[in-house]
Amino acid sequence: MTDTLVFYSKPDPFELWRDALSPLLGDAVRIERADEVTDPDKVRFALVWMPPEGFFARFPNLELVINLGAGVDRLVARNDLPDVPVTRLSDPEMARMMAGFVLFSVLRHSRDIPHFEAAQTRREWAYRHPRAAAEISVAVLGLGELGALAASEIARQGYQTDGWATGPKDLPGVDVHHGEEALEPLLSMADIVVCMLPLTPGTRGLLDEAAFAAMKPGAAFVNVSRGEIVDEAAMIAALSSGHLSGATLDVFASEPLSAESPLWALPGVLITPHLASVALPASAAPQIAANILSIRKGVPIANSVSRERGY
Ligand code: NDP
Repeated sequence: MTDTLVFYSKPDPFELWRDALSPLLGDAVRIERADEVTDPDKVRFALVWMPPEGFFARFPNLELVINLGAGVDRLVARNDLPDVPVTRLSDPEMARMMAGFVLFSVLRHSRDIPHFEAAQTRREWAYRHPRAAAEISVAVLGLGELGALAASEIARQGYQTDGWATGPKDLPGVDVHHGEEALEPLLSMADIVVCMLPLTPGTRGLLDEAAFAAMKPGAAFVNVSRGEIVDEAAMIAALSSGHLSGATLDVFASEPLSAESPLWALPGVLITPHLASVALPASAAPQIAANILSIRKGVPIANSVSRERGY
C-alpha cells in the first residue's frame, strides 16, 4: 500500500525536499505538497515548518509529524497538534553550519573586530593587542545537537570553554555545568556568552535583567537560538550602558526585527536575519526517510521530541 507524506513550508522549496526524499522512500511513500494532496486519508506522515492553524485536522490518519527544522517551540506550543510522535531534523550539515556561525561570532568578539570596524569608519589605525584564545572564556548555554558541536569547535580553537545543560555531560575540552544554580556563576566568569538553548517554558525570558547584570563587565553576548529566551529590553540596556561590549544576534523576540529597534544602531552589535543555520535536504533526508520507514515497519523512531519538556 502506498502512503502519503504531506509537505508544508513557506521558506523551503518543495522540489528539493521531494527530490532528496523520493529515492530513499521508493514507491512506498508518495510525497505531495499540502495544497495538492489527492487523498487526505492516505496521509500518514507530515513534514512541516509552521503550517497554518487547522492544518492537521485535514489528515485524520497521521502517524508522524516531522518538524522541518531543529527548533520545535512553535510546533509543540500549538493546541491543534495531533497526538502522534513528533520528530525534528537532526542534520550533521546543519550542526556544522551552526558551529561555523558560532565560531565566527566568538572570533568576531575575541579578536575585537567591532573595535576595528568602528575605527575604520574614522580612518583610524587603532591597534589593540590581541589576546590569546586560552585567556578568553566562552560559555555555551545549551549543549544539544547544535550546541555540543559548536562548543567542541570553540574548545578546539583553544578557548576556555564552559557549557550548560540540564544534566551532566561528557564533552571533551568543555567544562560542563548543569542546573539552575550553576547559571549565574557561569555568566559571571565568561568573556563571551553564547545562547544555544531551545525555547521552552523553562527558558523563556531566562536571560533577564539579573542575568545580564551577572555577566562580566565588557562581556559579549551571542544569540543564535531563540529571541524569546532573552529579555530584549534588559539586553538593550546592558549594551547601551556599555556593561556589554557587543553582541552578535541572529534571533529576536519579534522577527523580522522592527526598523525602529535600537539594536540596529548600538555599537558592537551585529544583526543577521535568522540564518545561522538552515536545514539541508541532502543531509537531512536520510534521517527523515529512516523514521518514516521505521513507522511503516512498526519499529522505534529516532530524534523524538518530548512534548513535556518542550524540546
Ligand atoms: P537540542 O534540543 O538538541 O538541545 C538543547 C540543549 O539545551 C540541551 O543540551 C539541553 O540540555 C539544554 N537545555 C534545555 N533546557 C534547558 C534548561 N532549562 N537549562 C539548561 N539547559 C537546558 O537543541 P539543538 O542544539 O538542536 O538546537 C538549539 C536551538 O537552536 C533550537 O532549539 C533552535 O531554537 C535553535 N536553532 C536556530 C537556528 C538559527 O538559524 N538561528 C537554526 C536551528 C536551530 P540536556 O542536554 O541536558 O537535555
